[in-house]
Amino acid sequence: MANRDNLLDRFCRYVKVDTQSDEKSESSPSTGKQKDLSRILVEDLKAAGLEDAVMDDYGYVMATLPSNIPSDHPAHGKVPTIGFLAHVDTYHEVSGANVKPQIIRNYDGRDIVLPGDQSIVLRVDEEAELAGCKGKTIITTDGTTLLGADDKAGVAEIVEAMWKLKEDPKRLHGKIRVAFTTDEEVGRGTEHFDVKKFGADYGYTIDGSQPGEIEDETFCADSAFVKVTGADVHPGYAKGKMVNALRVASDLIMTLPQHRAPETTEKREGYLHPLSIEGNVSEAKIHFLVRDFTVDGLEELESVLKHAASFVARKYRDARIDVDIKESYRNMKYAIDKDPKVVAYAEEAIVRAGLEPRKHFIRGGTDGARLSFMGLLTPNIFDGSMNFHSKKEWTCLEWMEKSVDTILSILDIWVEKSAK
Ligand SMILES: [Zn+2]
Repeated sequence: MANRDNLLDRFCRYVKVDTQSDEKSESSPSTGKQKDLSRILVEDLKAAGLEDAVMDDYGYVMATLPSNIPSDHPAHGKVPTIGFLAHVDTYHEVSGANVKPQIIRNYDGRDIVLPGDQSIVLRVDEEAELAGCKGKTIITTDGTTLLGADDKAGVAEIVEAMWKLKEDPKRLHGKIRVAFTTDEEVGRGTEHFDVKKFGADYGYTIDGSQPGEIEDETFCADSAFVKVTGADVHPGYAKGKMVNALRVASDLIMTLPQHRAPETTEKREGYLHPLSIEGNVSEAKIHFLVRDFTVDGLEELESVLKHAASFVARKYRDARIDVDIKESYRNMKYAIDKDPKVVAYAEEAIVRAGLEPRKHFIRGGTDGARLSFMGLLTPNIFDGSMNFHSKKEWTCLEWMEKSVDTILSILDIWVEKSAK
C-alpha cells in the first residue's frame, strides 16, 4: 500500500508542474517551463540511485542504472542495455496550468462529475474502461485543464520502477538507461535526441494508453508540397488570358478521391490530406500529408496525386503544377520486424503483469517510430491512462502499477533470455 501511495504522490506532484509545449515556438525546448519538471526528475532519479542523472540544454534528462548482475551469473556481460523513455511536455491546445488532480478512492462505478466545470461528466456508458475500475483509485482533472497523464503517468511509472529496483537489490537487471524528453506533443521530441549518447540497445516508450496495450506499428508518412503556377492579368482584361492559380488549386483538391481523406478513412486505410493552402492568382501552394501503413500504399497515393495534378494542369491552358514529395517517417514495424524480440519480450512482460497484451497500430507517428529508424528499436507500452489531450483525461492508479510491473518484468525477461 505504501508503494501505491508513493506512485500516486509522485504522479500528482508531476502533473501540478505546467509543462505545456508550444507549436509556434522555434526554440528548444519550445517552452522553458518544461525544464521545471526535468529539474525535479534529475533529483528524483538521483534519489532512486541513478547517480549520473543530468538535464541538457534542450531539457532532456538522461540517467543510468548500472547492471547488478554478479560476475558468476550466466547472464553476466550478456544483457543488452534497455532504455525507458517518456515525455515531460503536455498537449499544446489544452491548458496544463494549475492542474488540480481529483483522487477518487474506492470508485463506486457511477458517472463522475468534474467539480471545476460540472458540465463535464465522465459517463460510464461512454467510457468503456471505467466499468473495469470499480473499487479502484481513479484520478481525474477538476474539469478546467487536462490532467497530463500523457505522459506524466509514464514518467512517474519509470521513476517508480527505478525505486522498486533500489528497494529490491536482489532483483537482477542489466544496464538501464532512462530518458525524459521534451516537445513530443509538437512533433519535435527526438529533434535533438542523441541515440549514440543514450547508448541503449533496445528502447520502450511508456506513452500508450489502455492496460496491456503495446504499439509497434505507425503510419508511413510523407509530405507533398504542390506548387500551382497561374498567370495573372488585370481582371478587367482577363478574358482568355488569366489562369487563376487558386481556382486550379481548388480543382486539384476536388479532383482527388474523397474516400481517401482522414475524415473518410479508419483502421489501416491511408489518406491524402490537404493540410494548408496559401497563395494568390499567380501562385498557390498546397501542403498535403500522405499517410499509409506501407511504403507501397504511400507510393500509390503519391501517384494518384501526381496523376491528378497533370490531369488538372491540362484543363487550364498555361497552368503548371509541380509536386515535390518529402519523406517524413516510416512505419516502425519495418525496423522492428528485423529484430522482433523487443516486442515479444514486452508481450511476455504484460502477461506476467496479469494482463492480456493488446497489439495496436497508431494512425500517426511516435517518437519511438523515429528512434526505431535512428537505430534504437522502440515500441510503445501502455501507461494506464485514458482520453489524452482532453479535460476528460483520467487514469487509474492500479493500472499505473501494472505499467510499473510491466517495466520490471521486461527487465527480468531480458536477463532470463540472456542467461541462456
Ligand atoms: Zn504522449
